[in-house]
Amino acid sequence: MPAESQPLAQALGMALSEEIVAPHSVPPFDNSAMDGFAVRAVDTVDATADKPVRLTIANTLAAGHVADRPMSADEAVKIMTGAPIPEGADSVVQMEVTEEKAGKVLIYEPAKRARNIRRAGEDVTAGDRVFKPGAVLGPAEIGLMASLGIPEVQVHRRPRVAILSTGSELVEVDRPLLPGQIHNSNSYSLRAQCQQLGVEPTLLGIVADDYEATRRLFKEGLEYDVLLTSGGVSVGEFDFVKDVQSELGVERRLWGVAMKPGKPLAFGICGRTLVFGLPGNPVSAMVSFELFVRPAILRLMGYRKTTRPSYPAIMAEDVANPDGRTYVVRVRAWREGCVWHVTSTGAQGSGLLKSMVGANGLAFIPGGPRGLKAGEEVEFMLLHEDLEEP
Ligand code: AMP
Ligand code: MG
Repeated sequence: MPAESQPLAQALGMALSEEIVAPHSVPPFDNSAMDGFAVRAVDTVDATADKPVRLTIANTLAAGHVADRPMSADEAVKIMTGAPIPEGADSVVQMEVTEEKAGKVLIYEPAKRARNIRRAGEDVTAGDRVFKPGAVLGPAEIGLMASLGIPEVQVHRRPRVAILSTGSELVEVDRPLLPGQIHNSNSYSLRAQCQQLGVEPTLLGIVADDYEATRRLFKEGLEYDVLLTSGGVSVGEFDFVKDVQSELGVERRLWGVAMKPGKPLAFGICGRTLVFGLPGNPVSAMVSFELFVRPAILRLMGYRKTTRPSYPAIMAEDVANPDGRTYVVRVRAWREGCVWHVTSTGAQGSGLLKSMVGANGLAFIPGGPRGLKAGEEVEFMLLHEDLEEP
């Protein structure tokens, strides 16, 4: 996606399209790391527990204020955390190990030079290359740029995503069901999956399994950067999505993935629009989003790393996989010491959304007749960090 300017406060989760060079140092000046007394270390060399050194308190310096004159010999400045070190001082003795008496401060041991002083530029030095293009902005990155006085950043804009659900059986969630109808759930789950990436998609609604109507809405969808349709992409009598894609000039890149769920996926490109014909079954649509759409959206947003972490884990139960396809099992994953374990979330039909509820991982059972036996190793993808044991 092209670059755009975003206020820092709106940039969470976006990737920089520019390099960030520090316009000034952080901290900008030497300052006190403690509440205490700024002193000249040479004035305290003779201090002992029995014979403290007495220094005159010249001034009290709060954070945000600057000393009005340099410190003289045998003087101390009472200083608060974050206040600039007065000229002449080279150490701060923390409040707790001093005693104040009649305008003097008693120091019981020699102060070490540079002690309790935060040096200008200790965190970032003016001119430092702080972030490279492609850096993804989290709370710490945003905080650091705020400390550098950068109110706006150049980032890759978020793609505009459209979602269209196909199926004559579908009705919206706020409508009662007539015989033969079901609620449109895919628009909701897919929208939520987009929202987790910081992308607010446009919902184009439901289109019946009618060629003309599908073509019309599909055309509207091609105005976006990414078009997600669900359903109508299989080999059924009324599955028009592939034909409509072709008629509208979508260059097909793939149809059919050797996995279960999620076999009927038709992906293509039309101009600059990525067109995903996702399967209609609710679990298939979500899994296909997770494995294909999410990485694509993140790449568009300028991310370098677009995949979730995956790890080897011990499978808790036997999993049969008579099919030749890779079996993507929705699992609950947890860790015991250094070892990951996964267990199936229950019945795994591609229409059973409950198999996604409570799943924090997807385990990949290799294709082929063998399946997997309980206790064997399997690769899984961690979807989120909610790691309670099942
Ligand atoms: P299809 O790929 O169109 O044949 O759809 C496969 C299955 O998914 C059918 O049982 C559909 O009723 C169901 N389905 C399709 N779209 C949705 C949707 N948006 N929400 C819930 N279920 C759907
Ligand atoms: Mg359908």
